[in-house]
This record gives sequence, structure tokens and C-alpha cells, in this order.
Amino acid sequence: MRGFFFLSALMASALSIADDAAPVEIAHRGASGYLPEHTLEAVAMAHALGADYIEQDVVMSSDGVPMVLHDVTLDATTDVAARFPGRAREDGRYYAIDFTLAELKSLAVRERFKPETGEPVFPGRYSGGLPVFRIATFEESLALVSGLNASTGRVAGVYPEIKRPGWHLAQGKDLGAAVVAMLDRFGYREKSDACFVQCFEFTEVRRLRESLGYRGKLIQLLGGSKPGEDGTDFVRFRTPEGLRELADWVDGIGPSLDSVVLGASPGERRITPLAAEARAAGLAVHPYTARTDSLPKWAADYADLIGVLKEAGVEGWFTDFPGLLR
Ligand code: CA
Repeated sequence: MRGFFFLSALMASALSIADDAAPVEIAHRGASGYLPEHTLEAVAMAHALGADYIEQDVVMSSDGVPMVLHDVTLDATTDVAARFPGRAREDGRYYAIDFTLAELKSLAVRERFKPETGEPVFPGRYSGGLPVFRIATFEESLALVSGLNASTGRVAGVYPEIKRPGWHLAQGKDLGAAVVAMLDRFGYREKSDACFVQCFEFTEVRRLRESLGYRGKLIQLLGGSKPGEDGTDFVRFRTPEGLRELADWVDGIGPSLDSVVLGASPGERRITPLAAEARAAGLAVHPYTARTDSLPKWAADYADLIGVLKEAGVEGWFTDFPGLLR
């Protein structure tokens, strides 16, 4: 019997070590593969499916409330055009920042669609007409995760993205400061807390560290070949020298899938040096975004995609389908 208990203890400790090293699954806009993105329903489902982290994209309302929305515009995920005709800007788009919290809360959220045609972006996804989904505030989303962590006894982290902070500042709104203040209220302050803040704009990443006093985990998102809105040089940040510079500011990078693995078919794919070079610089790598219904050309199916990411040795990934292979 003693031998059995010893073996069980050994196995339990080996398992916990394996768990610590296991890549983290980040529910991209909640369980957005199954329910309209960023709704509280999608957050609850992501939690129930076992996601390690749940992502919140954050933009601001006209009355300064941080809201969970991927776009600064409302056209592709709500009924704003029908509800508030005449409130679009000159470019024909409806901006969340032009609407109060009460107005935003009155909108119905639906599965992402093409505003020009009304067609769904992902045709196989949620298409129910009722119930009506609503936009969540950042506070509501954090409160829901916190409540579920307590009621289930399983802690899921949060993963907010500060959307277009320079644009928000130009509109007179300090989104970064509002996000940091809200995270502080929910106890997300240090690197040991279950939170990653992410941003595409390096100007904001520096500001988070230098003047906003954010000490928690931070991810520099990396775009393609074009510089970011604030001039962030993504191409340089993907080089060993750029990665070493980033390591002074952030804990990891969020690159696109195609900068971690390349190839026009599964047969001719190759893993790029990016993940290994980031690791050498001390940075975690969390690529975006794994989807069953929009696979990169180099992946045969979703399981193959995840298998290659594991082979590349990344520390986690964004997925619209949390829990799918669990
Ligand atoms: Ca995002």
C-alpha cells in the first residue's frame, strides 16, 4: 500500500509539473465560435469549457465607460444602423465612442456579419434570433469571471486588449488608464495575478509601464508587414534584436499564426524561428487565432493546427473554440 501511495504522490506531482508547463488556452472574444463574441453568455461558456484565460477587447463609450467590443465601430456586431439611423460619422460607420452606456446597452448583439450585405462572417456559427444578447461593460465581464472562479473553484484568467489607445486619446479618452484602474479594482496588479494586458501599440505598452504604473503581465501584439497605427515596427520586433528590446517591457508577444508557421499546404509547412528566438529573449509566445472554420493553409484540420503549435513550443494560443480538444 505504501508503495501505491508513494507512486500516486509521485504521479500527482509529475502531473502538476506537466500542468504548469502546459500551453495556456485563451478564449478569443469568449467562446466566440459558439455564441456572439464578447457577450456575457460567451464568457460563461468559455469558462465552462475550461479556458485558461478569457479575452476582453476594450473600447470606450461617450460617457467614459470601458465596454467589451472588438471594433471601435458597432456596425458588424449590433443592430445600431436600424436603432440609431443618422448617428453614423461621415465615413458611414457608427462609433461606440459616440454612444452613451445606456444607448450601447439598448443595442442587440448578434453574430458578426458583413454590414454591406448582412451575411455572416462565419456561416456555420450561432444563428439563433432569440434570446437577445447585449454588449457587456468591462466591469461586468471581469465580475462574471470573478464570480465563476469562485462558484466553480476553477480560476480562469482575464486577457484584456486596449483597442486603438492612440485613437482613443485623440478623441479625448484615456482608455489605457481606465483599463488599468478597473483591473486594479478586481485585484489584477502583479505578474503573479491571472491577467495579461495586450496591445498592438508599443507607445501604449511603454506608457502602461512608465506612467500608468501597470506592473502585471503584458503582451505586445504583433501585426504584419505594415507598421502599427502609432508607427510600431512589427517587422523589427520579430527580429532577435527587436525581441530583446521588447523583453525590457513585456512578458510575451502575440504574433499571427502565420509568423509562427509558414506554408501553402500541410505538406510543405515549416516552423519559423520566431517562437524559439522569442523564448531565447525570455518572452512567451501566444499566437492568434485558432479556428476550425478559418484554418491557415498549412493546417489539415484544427487538431493538426494545435499539434503544430505545440511542436513550435509556444506557451499558449488564442482560439475561438476553447475546450475543443479537451
Ligand atoms: Ca483582441
